[in-house]
Amino acid sequence: MLGMKLKMLYLCTRMTNESQIRVVPEVAAQEDRLKAYLADEQGIDVRTINGVRILKRSIDARQRQIYVNLKVRVYVNEQPHDDEYQRTEYPNVEGKPQVIVVGAGPGGLFAALRLIELGLRPIVLERGKDVHERKKDLALITKTQKVDAESNYCFGEGGAGAYSDGKLYTRSKKRGNTDKILNVFCQHGASTAILADAHPHIGTDRLPKVIEAMRNTIIRCGGEVHFQTKMTQLILSGETVVGCIADKEYRGPVILATGHSARDVYRYLSEAKIEIEAKGIAVGVRLEHPSQLIDQIQYHNKQGRGRWLPAAEYAMVTQVDGRGVYSFCMCPGGFVIPAATDKEQIVVNGMSPANRGTAWSNSGMVVEVRPEDIEADDCLAMMRFQEELEKACWQQGNMKQTAPAQRMADFVNGRLSYDLPKSSYAPGLISSPLHFWLPKMISHRLQEGFKVFGRNAHGFLTNEAVMIAVETRTSSPVRIVRDRDTLQHVRIQGLFPCGEGAGYAGGIVSAGVDGERCAEACANYLAQLK
Ligand SMILES: Cc1cc2nc3c(=O)[nH]c(=O)nc-3n(C[C@H](O)[C@H](O)[C@H](O)COP(=O)(O)OP(=O)(O)OC[C@H]3O[C@@H](n4cnc5c(N)ncnc54)[C@H](O)[C@@H]3O)c2cc1C
Repeated sequence: MLGMKLKMLYLCTRMTNESQIRVVPEVAAQEDRLKAYLADEQGIDVRTINGVRILKRSIDARQRQIYVNLKVRVYVNEQPHDDEYQRTEYPNVEGKPQVIVVGAGPGGLFAALRLIELGLRPIVLERGKDVHERKKDLALITKTQKVDAESNYCFGEGGAGAYSDGKLYTRSKKRGNTDKILNVFCQHGASTAILADAHPHIGTDRLPKVIEAMRNTIIRCGGEVHFQTKMTQLILSGETVVGCIADKEYRGPVILATGHSARDVYRYLSEAKIEIEAKGIAVGVRLEHPSQLIDQIQYHNKQGRGRWLPAAEYAMVTQVDGRGVYSFCMCPGGFVIPAATDKEQIVVNGMSPANRGTAWSNSGMVVEVRPEDIEADDCLAMMRFQEELEKACWQQGNMKQTAPAQRMADFVNGRLSYDLPKSSYAPGLISSPLHFWLPKMISHRLQEGFKVFGRNAHGFLTNEAVMIAVETRTSSPVRIVRDRDTLQHVRIQGLFPCGEGAGYAGGIVSAGVDGERCAEACANYLAQLK
């Protein structure tokens, strides 16, 4: 009777409530089922629920029965009225003091947008092409087996973040800042699902439009974006950077956000005696499994993921002989791609479309390498180590982009693979004894690490999986040393090393956060000059 009365009351009461629920995947994925579940749980008539907004979503796959944890906002007798994301206002900055941003990756783009918020005019210089033109050069890598040194998977509008996987999670603890980055992505066209998902992901097919929209905001507000414009030199006045040289001179303080693959920039800084230092990296291979196998393992179900679950993820980590061995940048339902930035190199990486729907799942499987492991005696030693491996890989790959590869169990057992499984890597694979020619400190640790991963996840260590060499660009091999407080270069004023290339970020979101911080630091610097 009381329940009945409450139901009647709810029929006419307007209210919004939030709750935490745990439901099976088919309920989480279908709005009508979710509404019915919530109506039942709250003892209200389902017709009174006008909308449900998912605020947080994570999958709990620890047990045989998979659950989805949801935080939901339920609109009873009222329409959803609140904003789905927080908008940032971008004022017109024509005629305002200008700041040069070198590099249009996530670090540079978020720096430019934040400069606008702060009333400064960004001039963005990007060596590569715009995000759409760039795509044609990516297709040519497979077709011609050649890499354009100015337009590739790392260089061009959006940087390494454009044709990346677009995973947007970070280990950064500064949650407020990462939320801002996600909201700015939404404002430029990304799905608001990224605000809810525990492991947000945009997808390589959707990123270009978002990046183009960010560029349009910069230009609409009075900033400039120049493509095919490579910075070759900084302009110094004593110990202060006052601009840089590209196709012409650009004047202003410089935010240097050139990413981890601009080796000419590191060489230039080293020659110009602008302090940089060698930094630890992680090196290994891309490991590719059939996605169905990963689904079966992770969802404990021979049928795989079924209709309502996404392609399964994994994260593996162990220690072998004092160094970390771990999976990196896992791409469920994705591709392995050729990510070299120059001729005579093979570098692999991974990405996935928004639907994560391919037949393969891959991840970097990498081993931590510290400067002392290679007896690095100068600031570019780690970079040269990367270069040597990438060249060796290219030689093993018949001096084309066909990548050397080996089946996983064969590698662990030190056997050459007589054939290779089908792979998503478009330029093609060539069988190669990776256990033999990869540096022992890497191959041995990978072999031991794989045994551990195989014990932890039954079926993971298998000859159905193929290792594709070589993954070297997991992070920057160099740090451009900066002052902790001012974020300027440790000695040179007016120079703000930014993002992954500076060695202070790793990934899209953390590069974006660092871009914003550098913009703020630059605004403080300019304010003090007044
Ligand atoms: C295939 C792939 C998949 C990835 N997937 C993910 C993922 O899912 N999630 C994630 O968080 N991270 C991912 N990453 C890493 C992520 O893309 C980088 O961490 C991030 O892009 C770093 O941002 P950044 O702005 O510091 O540098 P970058 O993105 O590298 O941008 C640097 C830019 O500077 C330009 N530049 C370099 N030198 C010059 C010069 N002299 N003059 C002018 N311009 C110059 C370059 O052309 C480039 O556009 C992926 C990377 C790749 C390659």
